[in-house]
Amino acid sequence: SNIFLDDLSFQIYNKQMYLDKLEYENLKRDLRSAVKKEEFKLYYQPKININENQNKISGVEALIRWNHPTLGLVSPQKFIKIAEESFLIREIGDWVIEEAFKQLSSWQNKYDRDLGISVNLSPLELCDKNKAARIKKLSQKYQIRRELIEFEITENALLDNRSDTIKILKELKNLDFSIALDDFGIGYSSFSYLSRLPIDTLKIDKSFIGKLSDSKNMILIDSLIELSHKMNLKVIAEGIESSEQLKTMKKLKCDEIQGYYFYKPLPVDQFEKIIEKNYY
Ligand code: C2E
Ligand code: MG
Ligand code: MG
Ligand code: MG
Repeated sequence: SNIFLDDLSFQIYNKQMYLDKLEYENLKRDLRSAVKKEEFKLYYQPKININENQNKISGVEALIRWNHPTLGLVSPQKFIKIAEESFLIREIGDWVIEEAFKQLSSWQNKYDRDLGISVNLSPLELCDKNKAARIKKLSQKYQIRRELIEFEITENALLDNRSDTIKILKELKNLDFSIALDDFGIGYSSFSYLSRLPIDTLKIDKSFIGKLSDSKNMILIDSLIELSHKMNLKVIAEGIESSEQLKTMKKLKCDEIQGYYFYKPLPVDQFEKIIEKNYY
């Protein structure tokens, strides 16, 4: 009977693998045409400045959404990895940047107040020597104020210590763009390494926010924020879901927060309604 069970679980296992592979191949095929068919959209999640008395929207993070013709919304968690493995991320990444610049240019004309946009960059995009030049050209095309754009990179982008990557980041900084280190704390960066990176902002990963009630974790975040401020880094926390977490981050002097407690990522028209209704 053992043999029978092994055989059965083997078949089930293989079937799942087959389905996973099929889904993967289908998504890869469909991704290829998704840019041309305009199936992507950017959503915008507000970032809130909690430094001052009143909480104020300082800008947004642009988050890509794929509206697949038959599958509906596909999460970036799923398709960004496929896009990277198939190198389609270069085309998709360029689309994201152009779309964000277009949006910023529209907000610059529409609103008196400054709204910043953060754009996620995949590690692969930072291996492309012409990236900074293309970004510069696009920024001129849309006449955007570059200091309002921040690029978010993850530690993976820096892991193999590619000189190209650091070079591109420095080029972007020289152009007045800002750089944020995203998902900080789940990778391997040491504090001493941090001081050598051309970054402006540290984004504390949401997995730490979920553990704020753990006092050791709290001490860690407290020290991290203090250290970052001494290094002239702005600190933003992602994944704030409760008023309790907001209170704690205020107490710890975190500069900005992002999370479902205030807003989920929103389609542009919904975000604009919020901006137009509220003067904060
Ligand atoms: P990320 O850059 O760390 O973005 C934050 C993610 O956390 C987003 O997921 C956001 O919707 C989610 N989030 C925000 N607030 C909360 C909260 O309070 N609780 C919880 N549980 N989650 C929250 P999303 O939009 O699914 O994106 C996932 C990841 O996909 C992003 O993580 C980023 O790594 C990648 N991604 C998204 N858009 C792009 C893009 O345009 N280009 C690239 N290269 N990657 C992207
Ligand atoms: Mg991000
Ligand atoms: Mg993040
Ligand atoms: Mg993340």
